[in-house]
Amino acid sequence: MSSALTGQTAVITGAVRGIGRAIALRLAKSEANLIINYYQNEAAALDLSRKIADLGGHCVLVRGDVSHPDDAQKVIQSSLENFNRLDILVNNAGINRDNLLLRMKEDEFSQVIAVNLLGTFHCTKYASKIMMKGRYGRIVNISSVVGIAGNAGQANYAASKAGIIGFTKSVAKELGTRNITVNAIAPGYIKTDMTNQLSDDQKGKILSRIPLGRFGLPEEVANMVNFLVSDEANYITGQVFRIDGGMEI
Ligand code: NAD
Repeated sequence: MSSALTGQTAVITGAVRGIGRAIALRLAKSEANLIINYYQNEAAALDLSRKIADLGGHCVLVRGDVSHPDDAQKVIQSSLENFNRLDILVNNAGINRDNLLLRMKEDEFSQVIAVNLLGTFHCTKYASKIMMKGRYGRIVNISSVVGIAGNAGQANYAASKAGIIGFTKSVAKELGTRNITVNAIAPGYIKTDMTNQLSDDQKGKILSRIPLGRFGLPEEVANMVNFLVSDEANYITGQVFRIDGGMEI
């Protein structure tokens, strides 16, 4: 079986569960070699690497906190050390620390900015240096519909995800001449540990706003990532793609 990403190397941050895990499995099916960044859960990382090996894929696990520049650099450099190239970066790592503005502590705000926005900055900066030399790169940043529309109780998360959109468009303008595309995906409500925290009441209210009448699946986000990093999307850059079942049409 040959496929579109054969021989390419992809770095995926925060990739051992939820959306990141689905992206890793999708890109492995497209025969990319993978650097799987994980934060703490080594058992989940090992489980994913076994699954990728079962698919006939190759991956290397790299522990690191993307909010720290040294860790982010280590994660990105490992693509050269292990596979001698870097073609694709998916900035997926993200956290939420929800609270109403008046109750929100400064560290709840700064932690979310540090992982979601600074982490995306660090990894993109180090990856783009390598991609510019190779005159090729595909970068996908995972934002959120909350970064477009805002959400009560998520001022920190919304600010980080809106920041990712501005960052994506700016970097797309900077790197376009080097054949590096930079796009963002804004998922709506996707079934993962992050949305499992919602109460049944919150879930019901959200579902009533989704024309397709259900939460999305991590695989449905992963399919879009796979498209954006493939040759079929060569002329697409600086865009934000909502995957949200039609919320806020
Ligand atoms: P998740 O909590 O299951 O996964 C997040 C991953 O990021 C985890 O593997 C976690 O370990 C990792 N991570 C956290 N802090 C890290 C750090 N400092 N360094 C490296 N990795 C770190 O959530 P998910 O739903 O799979 O979310 C994936 C991405 O999609 C996030 O950026 C999230 O904001 C975004 N998103 C999710 C939804 C949704 O409905 N689930 C909607 C919109 C956007």
